[in-house]
Amino acid sequence: MTLEHIARALAEQGIESLALTKAQIAQLAKDWQRQERAIARLLRQVGDEGKCRGSDCGKPIVWIKTRLGKPQPLDPNGEPHHATCSDVRKFR
Ligand SMILES: [Zn+2]
Repeated sequence: MTLEHIARALAEQGIESLALTKAQIAQLAKDWQRQERAIARLLRQVGDEGKCRGSDCGKPIVWIKTRLGKPQPLDPNGEPHHATCSDVRKFR
């Protein structure tokens, strides 16, 4: 996640009107990255690391089990991989 990503994400949500300074955006980016690293560490401890089998995707994923015991692939940042996979149609 780069500064530009953060700024764009904020702007998409209309938060640009808050007129955040560059330093504030940089702090947000830092906090965000720290959280993503914490989530990635946690997922590596509770899940099984792997790679998406989609031929156009192949991104790193972590398999976890939901409370109902159903396996679910997540991106390393905790987002369901189905939401970001470029090959998602092949798995449906
Ligand atoms: Zn994928």
